[in-house]
Amino acid sequence: MFTTLFTHAACLDHDTGLGHPECADRLRAVLAALETEEFYMLERQEAPLATMDQLSRAHPREHVERILALVPEQEHAGIDADTVMSPGSGEAALRAAGAVVAAVDAVASGHSRNAFCAVRPPGHHAEHEKAMGFCLFNNAAVGAYHARAAHGLQRVAVMDFDVHHGNGTQDIFQRDPDLLYCSTHQSPLYPGTGDAGEKGDYGNCVNAPLAAMSGSPEFRHAMTHIILPAIDHFKPDLLIISAGFDAHSRDPLAGLHLTDDDFAWATRKLGDLARTHCGARIVSVLEGGYNLRALASATAAHVRELMYC
Ligand SMILES: [Zn+2]
Repeated sequence: MFTTLFTHAACLDHDTGLGHPECADRLRAVLAALETEEFYMLERQEAPLATMDQLSRAHPREHVERILALVPEQEHAGIDADTVMSPGSGEAALRAAGAVVAAVDAVASGHSRNAFCAVRPPGHHAEHEKAMGFCLFNNAAVGAYHARAAHGLQRVAVMDFDVHHGNGTQDIFQRDPDLLYCSTHQSPLYPGTGDAGEKGDYGNCVNAPLAAMSGSPEFRHAMTHIILPAIDHFKPDLLIISAGFDAHSRDPLAGLHLTDDDFAWATRKLGDLARTHCGARIVSVLEGGYNLRALASATAAHVRELMYC
C-alpha cells in the first residue's frame, strides 16, 4: 500500500497579501521538497472540493455559507487582521478540506496505508463558528467527521504538533467522547488557549504546553509521558496529524527549538501507535510552518517516515 500525497494547484491561489507569512510560497516549498528522487514512490492525487454536507459536519451550514460569501471578487477581504481572503480563497479552502476527506477515503478503503495533505489555508484555529488565525475551515475536523459518517471509524484522535495551540479543533472536539484532541504547543503564545487544565468534557483534550526555548528533550518528554499514552489509552480507529512545522528552531513566528529529527521521531512514534490500534491508518494535514527552508526539510522528514511507517 502507498503513502498518498493529496494537493491541488488551487491552494496556491489563496493570496493573503504582500508580506503575509501564510503565503503560497510555503506550499511551493513543500511540493518542491517532495519532488526529489527519494519521494518517487509517493502516489499523487488531486484534492477534490469538499461538499457542503462534509463541511457542515464540523461547522454550522450558515457559517460555511457566510465565509464563502465573504470571498471577494477582487483584491482582499479580511475576516480579522491575520485572516485574509482573495478571489481564489474559496476554492482553496474547499480543496484543503476536500484533501483530508479524500485522504480519509483512501486510508479507510485500504487503497493507501497513510496520506499527507499538502494544502492551505491551514485549519486548526478554525472553530465551530469562527474562522481565525489564517484558518477558514477546520480541515482535520472535517476529515474526522467524514471518517465516522462515511466509514464507521467512530473513534478519531488528532495529534497536533504545530507550535500554536489548535483552539479550533479543541473547540469542535471537546464535547464528544469519541474524539480525542492532543496538542504540544508553545505557551504562552497565540491564540492563548491550551493550558494543561483544559481537558474537554470527557478528558478527551490533552494539552502539553511547552515554555519558550524548549527543544528536543522537552518535546520528546511531553510526547512520551503525556501525548502517546493518551492516544494509546484512547485506541483510535483513525489517527489524524495536524502537522505544523513552526516549532522548528528556524521558524520566525515562535520560539521552540525542534529539529527535522524531532518531527521524524514523532512521526515514527505515532506510526507505531497507528499500527497497534488502527491498521496503520494515518492522515496527516499541513498546518503552519513559516521558514520556507525549515518547512521544506521538516515536511520531507515527516513524509519520509510516513512512507516507511
Ligand atoms: Zn502554527
